[in-house]
Amino acid sequence: MPIGLYVHIPFCLHKCGYCDFNSHAGSDRAEQAHYVDALLREMELWATRPEVAGEQVSTVYVGGGTPTLLEGAELARVLRGVREHFRLAPDAEVTVEGNPGTVDVEGEKLHLAVQAGATRLSLGVQARQRHLLERLGRIHDALQVEAAVKAARRAGFANLNLDLMYGLPGQTPADFRETVSWALGLGPTHISAYSLIIEEGTPFYHAYLAGRLHLPPEEAEEQMFLEGKALLEAAGFEHYEVSNWARPGFRCRHNLIYWRNEHYLGLGCGAHSFLRLAAPLSNLGPPRPGLTASRVQGGSPVETAPGLPGQQYRFWNLKHPGAYRAALERGVLPVEAGEVVDRRAEMAETMFMGLRLLEGVSGERFEARFGVSIADVYGPDVDRLRREGLLEWAEGALRLTPRGLRLGNRVWEAFV
Ligand code: SF4
Repeated sequence: MPIGLYVHIPFCLHKCGYCDFNSHAGSDRAEQAHYVDALLREMELWATRPEVAGEQVSTVYVGGGTPTLLEGAELARVLRGVREHFRLAPDAEVTVEGNPGTVDVEGEKLHLAVQAGATRLSLGVQARQRHLLERLGRIHDALQVEAAVKAARRAGFANLNLDLMYGLPGQTPADFRETVSWALGLGPTHISAYSLIIEEGTPFYHAYLAGRLHLPPEEAEEQMFLEGKALLEAAGFEHYEVSNWARPGFRCRHNLIYWRNEHYLGLGCGAHSFLRLAAPLSNLGPPRPGLTASRVQGGSPVETAPGLPGQQYRFWNLKHPGAYRAALERGVLPVEAGEVVDRRAEMAETMFMGLRLLEGVSGERFEARFGVSIADVYGPDVDRLRREGLLEWAEGALRLTPRGLRLGNRVWEAFV
């Protein structure tokens, strides 16, 4: 079965106050170039491994961080490396994430990315209003978004996603309506809208605990979601995942791999992978203290052994860019640790990821994959969630009801 490929670029110009991604401010050109060298080395090592050598790669996602912070030539080197080392499907979706504040108006960087094989651009827009962008710590404004979209079109990107956020400090439903209408006017093929999550350890988290961050009330946040959804649907966008809308034919194929719990390889510092191993990851060291079963969804213990051939394995790379590069300079895969995804965990993940999709989890596909029905495994939980009006069976699939869409966490919890 084809796999997805994720490539992580961990550099940003400035760290946003709400962000807990593996991203770092303050890198220079030399550090970025060394990092790209390391990425190419990692691609080389993976290209010879049996899990990947024979597989077709159907989607590539270069995310971050801020991939468009790289020089155009470096970004192109990453994209060409992918084509050189992996067997890309002829119609592969190749997304590059960008920050409007790091896209040159001439579009030179984006032009190089298109020439090197990028087919889709995803811009982190978040909001239209300057005061909201400043509060988030974003480096761009609405005019830069408009310029970046124009530059993307000139460079040849016909497939364009805009990321928006709601539930922001100081944001009103009217602000979000204005943001969605303005974003639609920019002519994207896809829009993601995420509610702000206060992540532990971020400046927003500390401000929140100290009572210095005032979020909109829950009802206002729900209003933003429902009004945004209505505007997007009225403009012809299909709501296909809790936080994602697309014009027909433009769903994000890479993210569908995650939501359908299919296999992917992650490259770059901190990147996660989910593959069926064909040979042990022999560079994994002895168990480290601090890795506990609590890190695992689905109940399997964390495994720091190298994994056995035939096992489905989730593993992740060393998080710090320096440690990641050092491993590759020694010529070893920069894998930090991993865990076996046994059948029970795979079923649970298939349910809670798949239920994020509005089409739901197909009963037939679940049975073909696991040899048992959803009712056999989750009967009592499904019955309870149906009684609570959160789930329904429709067209052979178990899916969220409109009420379940608003109270998704109560559904996911049942399967974690
Ligand atoms: S631009 Fe994105 S990845 Fe970088 S700090 Fe801001 S939210 Fe995080």
